[in-house]
Amino acid sequence: MRLLKRPRSAWHGLVALLTVVVLALAAWINLPQIGRLFNNSADRIAALPPAPVFTRGQRILILSPHPDDETLCCGGMIAGAIVAGAQVSVVWVTAGDGFEFAASLAERTLDPGDPQMRAMGQTRAQEALKAAAALGIPASHTVMLGYPDGGLSALFTTNYTETYTARTTGASAVYVRGAQTPGAPFTGQALEADLGRVLDRVKPDLVLAPAPQDFHPDHRTLSHIALRLMSARGQAGRLRLGGSRRAGMAGPQGPAPGIAADPAPAGRPAAVAAR
Ligand SMILES: [Zn+2]
Repeated sequence: MRLLKRPRSAWHGLVALLTVVVLALAAWINLPQIGRLFNNSADRIAALPPAPVFTRGQRILILSPHPDDETLCCGGMIAGAIVAGAQVSVVWVTAGDGFEFAASLAERTLDPGDPQMRAMGQTRAQEALKAAAALGIPASHTVMLGYPDGGLSALFTTNYTETYTARTTGASAVYVRGAQTPGAPFTGQALEADLGRVLDRVKPDLVLAPAPQDFHPDHRTLSHIALRLMSARGQAGRLRLGGSRRAGMAGPQGPAPGIAADPAPAGRPAAVAAR
């Protein structure tokens, strides 16, 4: 209780310090000039090649790790592509059911359990459809896979063949309504097969996916999977890597060029990527 007896000036000092920290964080996140003091990301973004020119009839597929990434990374490009007459499709690999803070707010509980987290997954899946529709993508051009939010890295490494159980939902198989393969086990193998079916159906001329430098493990993992699958098809050149997170940010000029490298991490089967 000694803490409560601090003099008023000490509390003011603490509040002032916290305010300065919050403002500094906000500036660091939002101002490229500040970021330039710590790294040259702004210069690297400026040096990126121009965004691809979209054409009528072109088939574009957005690989989105979570609901919202398609809009954050590529909303402007999607709108431009549709205006140009391209056909845009989007696939969400997860339903975003690992975001406990959001579930706490939505469900008004400090400790959201499996049912609340699954409910949020269903909600986010529906919200993703609405966001896509607002961008001009019809529901028939959207695919929800429904693999575990926060679990893609495990699926790609320790759980490529062994079923993974999601910490936040307790699920070990796809449960999201409207998913492409309901009941598919949470394994890397099932995820790659599901995504492969999307590629076979859409036959994209251009695939937009997160960058391998992205700081979010789900984003990085999807980048590796995209590289593996497109390399296996001899189509790595159709892949463009960008994203919504700092390290892999595409910037206004469009995503970074695809990297035709073997993306298989140590300990994972590399046969597909090496082909
Ligand atoms: Zn994301």
